[in-house]
Amino acid sequence: MEKKIPQATAKRLPLYYRFILNLHNQGKTRVSSKELSDAVKVDSATIRRDFSYFGALGKKGYGYNVEYLLQFFKDTLEQDAITEVALIGVGNLGTALINYNFSQSNNTKIVMAFDRSKRTAKTENGNIPIYSIEQLEEKLNGVEVAILTVPAAAAQDIADRLIDCGIKGIVNFTPARLTIPDDVRIHHIDLSVELQSFIYFLKNYPMNE
Ligand code: NAD
Repeated sequence: MEKKIPQATAKRLPLYYRFILNLHNQGKTRVSSKELSDAVKVDSATIRRDFSYFGALGKKGYGYNVEYLLQFFKDTLEQDAITEVALIGVGNLGTALINYNFSQSNNTKIVMAFDRSKRTAKTENGNIPIYSIEQLEEKLNGVEVAILTVPAAAAQDIADRLIDCGIKGIVNFTPARLTIPDDVRIHHIDLSVELQSFIYFLKNYPMNE
């Protein structure tokens, strides 16, 4: 990508992509920022600003060209290249993520999982091998993204091992705050923090103000 897109905009890309792909599959050739706004629940001024970063300048009374946007999103999100993901900790949350396996996006796939327990987790997705955590170094085989769904107490140790294997990014679902080197990217996903900030916004920024 030549032009740097702000992080907040980049976060909305998959949302836009999914909607535009649906429109394209329905045979639609253009879309207005109002239609987009209603569908993805982002206000139309933000959409217009976001899209100006993509070089998509909607025309008044015409809207945006669906084909152009779709190609842009495919290129930017690299929809053709599959990112392989390893999941560590096949408990309640891990099993749910494996079963879901990002079926709505086709560029991210959990390809293997690890757990400490010998029991084979009951997953609907029988295609994903679940290895013993002892085999992490042996089996990871160049996978660069990992999802951590182990208990918090085990998180740092697993993260260290993943980093030694050359992992580039970790999506951390555990409440543990991890120490990682600068060249490894980490995302913390904490439902209680999300809910708290959601409730704060709900109370302090009522809609339509
Ligand atoms: P769980 O106990 O059902 O699953 C944890 C799994 O990790 C088990 O299968 C266990 O055998 C495995 N495990 C434990 N130590 C390990 C190790 N050293 N190496 C490999 N595997 C190991 O727990 P859960 O409910 O699935 O939660 C998992 C994590 O996700 C917890 O840290 C929890 O706090 C967090 N969590 C986060 C959210 C969220 O929204 N972010 C929601 C629920 C749970």
